[in-house]
Amino acid sequence: MKFKKLIWGSLASAVAAAVVSAYGAGGNTLPKDVRMTWFGITNWHYQIGDVGILLDGETISDFSPNPQPNVASVSKALKAVRTQGDIDVILVGHEHGDHGVQVPEWASQTGKQVYAPAEVCAAVRKYGVPAAKCTALNGGETIKVSDDVTVRVVRWIHSIAECTGFGHGTNDPEVFGFLITAKTAGRMEPLQLFVSDSGAGGKDLTTPRVSKGVTYGSPIDNLRAAMAAAGATSLDVWQGGPESRVVTQARLIVPAFKVKTFMPHHLGVRANSASEFKLEYGLHFPYAVDEQPLLRDYLRQAGVPQVPPVNYWDAWTFDADGVRPIANKPAKALYGLPEVGPGPGKQGENPRAGRLECKGD
Ligand SMILES: [Zn+2]
Repeated sequence: MKFKKLIWGSLASAVAAAVVSAYGAGGNTLPKDVRMTWFGITNWHYQIGDVGILLDGETISDFSPNPQPNVASVSKALKAVRTQGDIDVILVGHEHGDHGVQVPEWASQTGKQVYAPAEVCAAVRKYGVPAAKCTALNGGETIKVSDDVTVRVVRWIHSIAECTGFGHGTNDPEVFGFLITAKTAGRMEPLQLFVSDSGAGGKDLTTPRVSKGVTYGSPIDNLRAAMAAAGATSLDVWQGGPESRVVTQARLIVPAFKVKTFMPHHLGVRANSASEFKLEYGLHFPYAVDEQPLLRDYLRQAGVPQVPPVNYWDAWTFDADGVRPIANKPAKALYGLPEVGPGPGKQGENPRAGRLECKGD
């Protein structure tokens, strides 16, 4: 028998709650979890029941003046993604060479809808993909992926390289974060995950964004609005994008949105003495919590665990009980990576070591 409505009174009984919430509003079976797979930089694949979401998908990282998609590298990554599930929508945070260059090829190979900054949509169109297949974002959009999965677009902010830098948007690329809300079988309230592929903290987060002459809300207000629209009172998972000064963001985001788990990403993009970004080499430097002592100490006192990836194609299950790593042999085997841990390439130093936090942070 299918229960069509959630019965809040049954919360007292864990068993009853599990049964009652196993079905969605349409009487459909709710997904049991969000399966999350990371494959470098800010590349994520989320499989939520029948629904698959791709973020960025940058398989090469090309900062040359006119980078072009690489057909073979996207084909290989798509093959690996399809061992996890599939792709129904493609989200893109910003246009840079470590995030958005392969997007036209992902769009072409999957035929799925892309939601991206206008510059990325222009590249998709130029590549020969029908213009209607890419929706240029402004922030504030609601993407209803299925009955159970909704994505809300949050106008966010790019990282600021220098310790004294400040950006309100005029000279930066447009950056979008995504609040993913998923109804699952294990909990009455949907799971809430916020991911951004870049970011900055302090007053950068609280100052309204200006882009192409238009003033938008501040990043933190934009996220607040998305959370309110989602009916969310806390963030189960925050996947923070930047490669610098995460602590200045954490101090605002963690208390404002009651973050439960922090997953650092944007790893592997820059070359070091061991290697450059290459999925077959494996992650060429580890994420070391002690390289960001202020962040480490802040999150520790806030009781928020850091769950970093160790190698490409690491996967996790995310459900009402939190985030737990899971094996991912099929995708790792395609790239010649060990089942667990780093490798096969030898790891070196973090090329950003010493610049991840600033005096006064
Ligand atoms: Zn980047």
